[in-house]
Amino acid sequence: MTGMIRPSLCLLALVLAQPLAAQEQSDSACDSGTILALKGLQLLDQRLNAIGQRLVTGNAPYCTDTAAQAGVLLHDIEQYPDQAVARFALGFDGRIAVMAVAPDSPAAAAGLLPGDDLLAIDGQRVEDIPANGPAIAKEPEAYRRIAAVNSQLDRALGQGQTTLDIMRGGERMQLVIDAPPACASRFQITASEDRGASADGKIVSVTSAMAEYFLSDDEFAAVVAHELAHNLLEHRDRLDAQDVNRGFFGQFGKSAGRIRSTEIEADRLSVWLMANAGYDPQAAIRFWTRYGQEHGKGILSASTHYRWKKRVELFEEEMAKMAAMEAVDGKYPPPLLTAE
Ligand SMILES: [Zn+2]
Repeated sequence: MTGMIRPSLCLLALVLAQPLAAQEQSDSACDSGTILALKGLQLLDQRLNAIGQRLVTGNAPYCTDTAAQAGVLLHDIEQYPDQAVARFALGFDGRIAVMAVAPDSPAAAAGLLPGDDLLAIDGQRVEDIPANGPAIAKEPEAYRRIAAVNSQLDRALGQGQTTLDIMRGGERMQLVIDAPPACASRFQITASEDRGASADGKIVSVTSAMAEYFLSDDEFAAVVAHELAHNLLEHRDRLDAQDVNRGFFGQFGKSAGRIRSTEIEADRLSVWLMANAGYDPQAAIRFWTRYGQEHGKGILSASTHYRWKKRVELFEEEMAKMAAMEAVDGKYPPPLLTAE
């Protein structure tokens, strides 16, 4: 965790004796609600980062598209509309800081901690990393620098041992990360009051409202594994190649059938991914039953999203296949990733 809370003008404004009414009416940057919300988002990002790291490393032997996975999530002060509050809530001193470090990850082994400020990657200062190029230009402006830093870090880690210069509590230090390849995917929480999750081929996104709905990390892993399965099976590329309408009209006709078949594959693969990462695949049944009963009249009733009872049957079928199989080094090779 980020450790101590540093005194700042913000804190002083909150704790200094002021008439309560004046505090409530003040339009100060020190909005305690915003601080709590940012800390809450950080906790969700930390949970998702840990679950994602376990899934990509636990299934690494079965992925053809791999990338060095250090288990670190970085963020940029530019991402936050109210930078004073973000500095206070999330422990930024500089520009780029560590948002999350997955337990037992290469970043954790190197000694990296949430709240560390990242100064340089293999001697290159983060402010000197060029935030241009076609991939970066597609990002919203506030996200260009973090996109450039992330891809620089990925490149460095992909070439082997990487030295990070960091600042922690006013002290500069160097840490060395050695991250072996694992399944290539990123994970992020998006702030939203709607429950949802998605996969764009490279990134798994889970909304904050969805993340808060999970009763356990195993349930959380069930949804992340489903979305990761879409990425590993390259479903977005497949649907695009088939000219499938993923929008409103995708609920009907041929598009609906093609989308449904990707959903069935993602469900089938998800429980294998969970088991190989040490999560309880039964949590998929528990989660989708609970979610289905509560949301039965919503998106699940659309023809692309077959009913939760059908999904539970799929999970049970796949778990029966695993149970009938001899685990290899505690792992179950997923037929959808190994069959050629
Ligand atoms: Zn899906």
